[in-house]
Amino acid sequence: MGSYGLLFYLNSLSQEQKAGKGIKVSYCGKLFSVEFAEQRTGFGTRKFFVCPVCGKRRTKLFLCGSGLFCVDCADLKPYKDLQNSTKGGYREIQYRMERFAERNGIKIKKWPFEFVDYADHPAYNRKKFQKVLKILQVLENMRLQNILFKTTFRQRTIKAVLTGKHPALTKYTLPELQKYLWVIE
Ligand SMILES: [Zn+2]
Repeated sequence: MGSYGLLFYLNSLSQEQKAGKGIKVSYCGKLFSVEFAEQRTGFGTRKFFVCPVCGKRRTKLFLCGSGLFCVDCADLKPYKDLQNSTKGGYREIQYRMERFAERNGIKIKKWPFEFVDYADHPAYNRKKFQKVLKILQVLENMRLQNILFKTTFRQRTIKAVLTGKHPALTKYTLPELQKYLWVIE
């Protein structure tokens, strides 16, 4: 399988798990303990992971090296010295995503980009719009890989994604692209 960075997602929690207790998650033969918290809302309770580093409530945790981190801690901890101007790095990808989204009538609401945030868009169920979301979700995968693992991408790869020709666009579904990080070459 081409996935090397696992993103622990809230959906991986079952309803019976009690807040404040560590749950064990196994991945690639390693066992990880994750704490989570609950927050009451008007509709019931919302679950969050607790980042083992900063203790903040998060909807996602990343497996990075041998530990779990939230997106901020993963960004700061292993690759503090990341050059913002790196060619094929996250700054460039983010800029290209913004421009591409704008050209297609989308304003990126927040980072990380998640296609589900655009379900209220009038064109959401149209095929062309789904393709636009997929291009953005592949680029988001690449952006996160640069932030987390310092992976940089060739201009050829970025261009192939932007023009809708990259094989990752047909290989993975939107939820798969949002949930896991894939090797994109
Ligand atoms: Zn954190």
